[in-house]
Amino acid sequence: MKTEHIFIVRCGEVALKGMNKPYFERMLVERIRKLLKRFDGVSVYRHEGLIFVRADISLDQNQIIKQISKVFGVASISPAVECESTMEAIGEAAVEYMLDEIKERGIKTFKVEAKRADKNFPITSPEIGRKIGASVLKGCKVLKVDVHDPDCRLFVDVRHDKTYIYRDKIQGFGGLPLGTNGKGMSLLSGGIDSPVATWMMAKRGMLIEAVHFHSYPYTSERAREKVEELASLVATYCGRFRMHVINLLPIQEEIVKNCPQDETTIHVRRFMMKIAQELARREGCGMLITGENLGQVASQTAEALVVTDSSVDMPVMRPLIGLDKVDIMDLAKEIGTYEKSIEPYEDCCTVFLPKHPVTKPRLEKILESESKLDVDGLVKAAVDSEEIVNIFPA
Ligand code: ATP
Ligand code: MG
Repeated sequence: MKTEHIFIVRCGEVALKGMNKPYFERMLVERIRKLLKRFDGVSVYRHEGLIFVRADISLDQNQIIKQISKVFGVASISPAVECESTMEAIGEAAVEYMLDEIKERGIKTFKVEAKRADKNFPITSPEIGRKIGASVLKGCKVLKVDVHDPDCRLFVDVRHDKTYIYRDKIQGFGGLPLGTNGKGMSLLSGGIDSPVATWMMAKRGMLIEAVHFHSYPYTSERAREKVEELASLVATYCGRFRMHVINLLPIQEEIVKNCPQDETTIHVRRFMMKIAQELARREGCGMLITGENLGQVASQTAEALVVTDSSVDMPVMRPLIGLDKVDIMDLAKEIGTYEKSIEPYEDCCTVFLPKHPVTKPRLEKILESESKLDVDGLVKAAVDSEEIVNIFPA
C-alpha cells in the first residue's frame, strides 16, 4: 500500500557545475521548497546525489508535479515507489507496481531497465533486470516482455539503503536555479514577446525586476491591469518580483513636439532604455532585458537596434533576437502567457505611432534631434513619478 507520494527530481545542467555543484543543488532544493510551500505535508531533501520530494498521500500528485516542473534547473521528475534493497522486496514492489499499471493503463508489454548505483550490491544491473523481469512475468500473467517498444519501461534504481521503482520521466524546463545568475531589469509590455524574454533569462538563473511604461489616459487602466496579470503568470516561474510602472506620456509629448515625426518610435525606445537603466542601477540589476527580435518591426531592424543600444551603457539582453515569431508564440503557449498576451489592449508604443517610421535610423541624426530635449530632466522626472507594484505568482 502506498502511504505517501515520492518524486525523484533530477537536475540537468546543474549536475555539470563541478566544484559549484553543492551550491547549485542547494539553490535548487530551496527553489523547489519555495514553490511547494503552498502544500502542507511536503518535504524536499538531497540524498545520494538525487533530490527527493515526499508528499502526503492526500495531496494531488499532478498538482505537485506541475509545481516542481516550474522550477528552473529541474531536468526531469519521476513519481516513484520505494522498497528495501533486497531482491525479494524489489520483486514484490515491482509486481505491485505493474498490477497498478495494468489496472490503470491496460498495459500489455514491459521491459525492465535496472541500474545499480550501489556497486556493493551483489547482483549486476543486467542480472537484476532479468530477475525482476521474471518476477513480474510470474506475478502479472497478462504481461509479456517487449524490449523494443514496450507499453511500460520499468526503471529499477538500486541504491544503498533503498530501491526506487518508477515509470515516467516527466521533462522539466531545465535551465539553472533562480538566483544563481544576477538580476536583470526587464522591459515588460503587454505583448507576446517580453514575457517570453523575461522567462528565458529567469530560466538561466537570473532574478527579475521589471519596468512597464504606459501613456495614461491614452492607454487605459484595464491595459495596465492586463500587464500586471501577465506579470503574475511570469512570476509563477520566477517568483514574486517588483514592477516599476511609469507614465511615459510627458516624454512622448515632448518628442512629438520637438522631433521629426518619422523618428518618434526610436526616440521613445531610447527613453525607455534610459529610464530602465536608471532603475536598474538603483535596484542592483546588472543588465536590461527586452523582447526585441531582429527585423520584427521598424524599431527592431539592425540599424534601429544599434541606435537603441547606444542610449545606454548597460548590456541589453535580447534572448529572442534570432527566433521566428511562430517559435516565440509556441513558447508563449507552452509557458502559459500567450492567451493573456493576445487580449486586445492598447500599448504606449502605439500612441503617437508615426505612419512611416524610419527603418534605418542614423545615430548622428537621432542624437541631433534628441539634443533639442532635456533628456536628463525628462528621465529624472519619469523615474521620480514611478509607482511600484508587487507582482505575486498567479
Ligand atoms: P512585445 O510583444 O514584447 O510587446 P513587440 O513586438 O510588440 O514586443 P515593441 O513594442 O517594439 O515590440 O517592443 C519591443 C520591446 O520593448 C518589448 O519586447 C519590451 O521589452 C519593450 N517594451 C515595449 N513596450 C513596452 C512597454 N509599454 N513597457 C515596457 N517595455 C516595453
Ligand atoms: Mg509591444
